[in-house]
Amino acid sequence: MTAHSNLYPTKALQDLDAAHHWHPFSDMKSLNQEGTRIITSADGVWLTDSDGNRILDGMAGLWCVQVGHGRQEISDAVHKQMNELSYYNTFFKTSHPPAIALSEKLARLAPDHINTVFYCSSGSEANDTVFRMVRTYWDKMGKPDKKVIIGRWNGYHGSTVAGTSLGGMKGMHEQGNLPVPGVHHIDQPYWFGEGYEMSPEDFGVHVARKLEQAIDEIGEDKVAAFIAEPIQGAGGVIIPPETYWPEVRRILDERDILFVSDEVICGFGRLGDWFGSSHYGMKPDLMPIAKGLTSGYLPMGGVMVSDRVVEGLMLAGEEFYHGYTYSGHPACAAAAIANLEIIEREGIVERVKSDIGPYLQERWLKLANHELVGEARMTGLVGALELVPDARNPHKPFKNVGTVGTICRDASFANGMVMRAVRDSMIISPPLVLTHEEADILIETAEKTLNDTWQILKKDGWLG
Ligand SMILES: *Cc1c(COP(=O)(O)O)cnc(C)c1O
Repeated sequence: MTAHSNLYPTKALQDLDAAHHWHPFSDMKSLNQEGTRIITSADGVWLTDSDGNRILDGMAGLWCVQVGHGRQEISDAVHKQMNELSYYNTFFKTSHPPAIALSEKLARLAPDHINTVFYCSSGSEANDTVFRMVRTYWDKMGKPDKKVIIGRWNGYHGSTVAGTSLGGMKGMHEQGNLPVPGVHHIDQPYWFGEGYEMSPEDFGVHVARKLEQAIDEIGEDKVAAFIAEPIQGAGGVIIPPETYWPEVRRILDERDILFVSDEVICGFGRLGDWFGSSHYGMKPDLMPIAKGLTSGYLPMGGVMVSDRVVEGLMLAGEEFYHGYTYSGHPACAAAAIANLEIIEREGIVERVKSDIGPYLQERWLKLANHELVGEARMTGLVGALELVPDARNPHKPFKNVGTVGTICRDASFANGMVMRAVRDSMIISPPLVLTHEEADILIETAEKTLNDTWQILKKDGWLG
């Protein structure tokens, strides 16, 4: 069969997929029995599947398609670049115009103290880079004992060895005997699930101080860095209480460790600012980026590096033995430039902050009135609904965590919209170009999906 042939009926495609294709983060046995959904084309915020259904892409692909699907301008830029220079490396004293132009652009968009970017092909590779870079930085600074990296439980930083280790997903750690030594995890700022016995404000401060305790117990002279997502994405859109980041900033300001803001989801406008750390008034030393960098048109990631770390790494006048064949890949860089130009020209970041963001948030937060919803939360264009058996007693979860989420996710798909389930919370992270009309459809579909889910749960005896 040809790569984009639609001549095959869905069943034939599903059978071939089941026979030969191992999917990321999937229970392959049950997936192969059930059959995959085959997406064949996309335009704006709409996907089309192999049966011709139109589906609202409430997850922007996988948190990444900021500018929407099917932008001719990006594919033209890639096409042109491919004809001119489809590949060359950036090792051995060489460079090329797309990598140079993208670097200049990123440096301009980043906070003032960040002016340099290292390239790779994904968020996971970006965090593998971070892992080696922060430790090497302290070696060069003459502090080789500073090696421990502090991450957070239920954080997500990718699925390579370093990404999995830095992340705090226990299920992932169990597969492959991770984390590697020298990574320490602290509690996450998940008020709804773990902090509800305090006010959100008190809990924010309380859980931020876990960082202070960890640094002081391990010893500041042994800690290299703290890594965190401004808002945890894959962990279930955990939006920290307002008091959390200011307290973390206070703790970091008083201590000499590096702060790594994983911007893979929050970067490039998701929260209504160019970077999630700027949204929260944080000053990171390193920012892993990927996803929205190219809006997913081609794979590309990077690490934005502050002047301080660049200078430290250059101190010894020695090589940092690290790089990827595809670091700065010209076609990917061309896609990133075209994507960033669209975001700038169309004022997409500002639009999230003052137009579509508030518009969707207002409607999304009202879903908290549904009897199945324990909490609705959203910042910028990323949000979650916590599904619970009894909204009057919201912090008591369903039994068999994850089952109800999956029922709701399937109901959403059947209603023509992608929502992701994390445990029993429903996640939304639509393209940033979502129109008001599309936002209305999103809310109507979410409501209908909650009603449908409630009916199923009622019928199957989940609601007691
Ligand atoms: C998706 C993600 C990653 C990993 O990126 P990949 O491109 O999938 O390797 C890392 N960090 C965060 C915060 C992510 O959401």
